[in-house]
Amino acid sequence: MKILVVNSGSSSIKYCLFDMTDQSLLAKGLVERIGIKGSCINHFPTGKDATKRVMAIPDHRKGIELVIDALLNSKSGVIDDISKITAVGHRVVHGGEKYSGSVLLNDDVINTLNEFIELAPLHNPPNILGIKVCQELLPDTPQVGVFDTAFHQSIPKEAFLYGLPYSYYEQYRIRRYGFHGTSHQYVAQRAAEILGKDIKELKIITCHIGNGSSITAVKEGKSVDTSLGFGTISGIIMGTRCGDVDPAIIPYLMEKENLSFKEINDILYRKSGFIGLSEGISSDMRDLEEQVQAGNIKAKRTLDVLFYGLKKYIGAYTAAMNGLDVLVFTAGIGENDPRLRKEVCQSLDFFGINIDDSKNDGLRGKEAIISTENSRVTVLVIPTYEELMIARDTVEICNNLK
Ligand code: ADP
Repeated sequence: MKILVVNSGSSSIKYCLFDMTDQSLLAKGLVERIGIKGSCINHFPTGKDATKRVMAIPDHRKGIELVIDALLNSKSGVIDDISKITAVGHRVVHGGEKYSGSVLLNDDVINTLNEFIELAPLHNPPNILGIKVCQELLPDTPQVGVFDTAFHQSIPKEAFLYGLPYSYYEQYRIRRYGFHGTSHQYVAQRAAEILGKDIKELKIITCHIGNGSSITAVKEGKSVDTSLGFGTISGIIMGTRCGDVDPAIIPYLMEKENLSFKEINDILYRKSGFIGLSEGISSDMRDLEEQVQAGNIKAKRTLDVLFYGLKKYIGAYTAAMNGLDVLVFTAGIGENDPRLRKEVCQSLDFFGINIDDSKNDGLRGKEAIISTENSRVTVLVIPTYEELMIARDTVEICNNLK
């Protein structure tokens, strides 16, 4: 069974082709700069030379056509016929309250996804576009939607409701949704697998720390709370997003600076977090770490805020679950930044978290247990693999069709 996984963004399409008989990756790639100058496709077939084609890619249809060409190509290809693709799994950011798991995409589902555009105006439209193009180009192939929000639909009401008039929840579905669900679910499951334990017996905190970040409490295999909420902005500070702020600041700042809704939105989503706190040094963790080493106090204060925020969430979610067995770090920063893991974990010994420097130092992008033998909480680094999770879900949905 070969599964094509598609993550269609506004100007890019990421793709992977898996052979699900052994879950191996046959090829992956990226179509970039769709509709703008310098568009190209980078294709990486496993065991063969990578290829790059620079050409005009005016729209997503052309982009997906090029993906199919690359997969079938006599030199760089990995399948000889399009019919070898059993199904396509699509990453969809927002599934609202309707989808707590992956679904076969049909017209009804797509109509519902259209309704969720107002909840995820930047993400759902290109996701839907990718689905429509794949339906057109592969009309006989089942298409499956895997939602970033689905894993968090198990969050109980006391954790997903905000303290606003209840009618806003009823009328506009204003509540905590949470994102990165596929990643949190993957690393939580993988942690249980690595430890040889039943996930239903574990209390896990998963820290997905990348450009966008979220922390999730996973109890008995289910998400019970998560730091992103209605939008993709709350929780710890991120590359350009502010994380938790007192809502009173927003009208205050709008009045002081005479800001429009668009302008305040821009400040909260694009000018805050690492880039804002560091006064423009960078939104990229590597640059900030480099500046900290060089003694830059702006970079240091930014990362101090990040580390403190992470500790607070780990403490809060330990309380929410009344305990903690496993702590997982994942995504670009979580997987690759030993100093962050050390700074966050070193003053959490009260919770039974002790990491072993010899296991943590220098560890980048690899699965490993980094806690000491005696640590009550097992701390792991697990590279996220959302694409594989999407492929697995797609197989499951297809098997249920039979
Ligand atoms: P996205 O949310 O866009 O998927 P990623 O998960 O790829 O983001 O994470 C990007 C972040 O990971 C960037 O801030 C980058 O600096 C950081 N990162 C990547 N490699 C390292 C590294 N070796 N050390 C510290 N941070 C790193």
